[in-house]
Amino acid sequence: MYKPLRIGFIGAGNMAFGIAKGMLSGNVLPVNIKVSAPSSRNMKRFQEVGISVTHSNAEVVCGSDVVFVAVKPHLVRLVLSEISQYVTKKHIVVSVAAGVTLSVLEELLPENSIVIRLMPNLPCLVQEGALLFTRGANAKQEHGDVLRSLLHCCGLVEEGPEAWIDIHTGLSGSGVAFVYLFAEALAEGAVKMGMPSSLAHSIASQTVLGAGRLLRDSGKHPAQLRSEVCTPGGTTIYGLHTLEQGGLRASVMSAVESATERARELG
Ligand code: NAD
Repeated sequence: MYKPLRIGFIGAGNMAFGIAKGMLSGNVLPVNIKVSAPSSRNMKRFQEVGISVTHSNAEVVCGSDVVFVAVKPHLVRLVLSEISQYVTKKHIVVSVAAGVTLSVLEELLPENSIVIRLMPNLPCLVQEGALLFTRGANAKQEHGDVLRSLLHCCGLVEEGPEAWIDIHTGLSGSGVAFVYLFAEALAEGAVKMGMPSSLAHSIASQTVLGAGRLLRDSGKHPAQLRSEVCTPGGTTIYGLHTLEQGGLRASVMSAVESATERARELG
C-alpha cells in the first residue's frame, strides 16, 4: 500500500512555515509533518494548521523521510553535528540555509548521505514561491523528483548547478524585499501627490501583483511589456525617464550582486 512521505523541519521559522504551508496546499497532510525548535515561540502557527511540534531535533529526524534544515546559516553546523548520528542512507536531507554549501553539508553528515541544497523564498506561503535546488553527490534524479513532488504547490521549482544557488538567493530570496521596497516607494509617491495612504498601498500591491502575473503568464520579455505601456510623449515614458535618471536599473543590478556576494560569505 502507498505510504505517504513523512516530512520534518528543523527550525520553526518563517521559511519552514512558508514551505510547510505550500506543501499543505498540495497533497501533503499535516499529520505527516513534524517541526522542531528549541523554543515554543512561533510554534503555534504550525499547530493551528495541524502540524505537530517538538523541541527534539532527533525526534524529527528519526520520524521523517525528508528532513528540511531550516535554521539560520550560522546554526547549520551545530544542528548537523547534533543530528548526524540519526541520519541514515534512507533520509533525504534538504538544507535551505543561505550560503551553506553542499560540501559543508556533506562533510557534517554521514558518508553517502543524500543531500539537497534548496533556496526557496517567502511567497511559498501563498504558493507563488520561486525555488531553485541543486543535488549533492549522492542525490539522484529520483530524489530531486521527490523534492519537486513535495514542493510543486509552493510555486516555481527549478534545478540548477550549485553556483546558481547564491545568485538565486540575491535574485529571489532577497529579491522579494527589493520588490517590497519598490511597492512602498510607489505608494509613497501617490501619498505625496495627495492620495490616502491605505488606498495608495492597496493599489501599489495590486499593481505589483498584476505586473508580475502579466509578466509571468505572457512569457514576454519585461522590456517588451514596458514598451507596450509607453505611449509616445505619454505619462509612462516621462516616469521611466525619471527612474533612469535616478539610476534604478543600476541600483537593482548592484543589489542582486551584493546580496549574492553576501550569500557567498555566509557559508
Ligand atoms: P527564522 O529566524 O524565522 O527561523 C529560524 C528557526 O530556527 C527558529 O524557529 C528558531 O527557533 C530555530 N532554531 C534555532 N536554533 C535551533 C536549533 N538548534 N535547532 C532547531 N531549531 C533551531 O529564520 P528563517 O527566515 O525561517 O530562515 C531559516 C533559513 O532559511 C535560513 O538559513 C535562511 O538562510 C533560509 N532562507 C530564508 C528565507 C526567507 O525569506 N526568510 C529565504 C531563503 C532561505
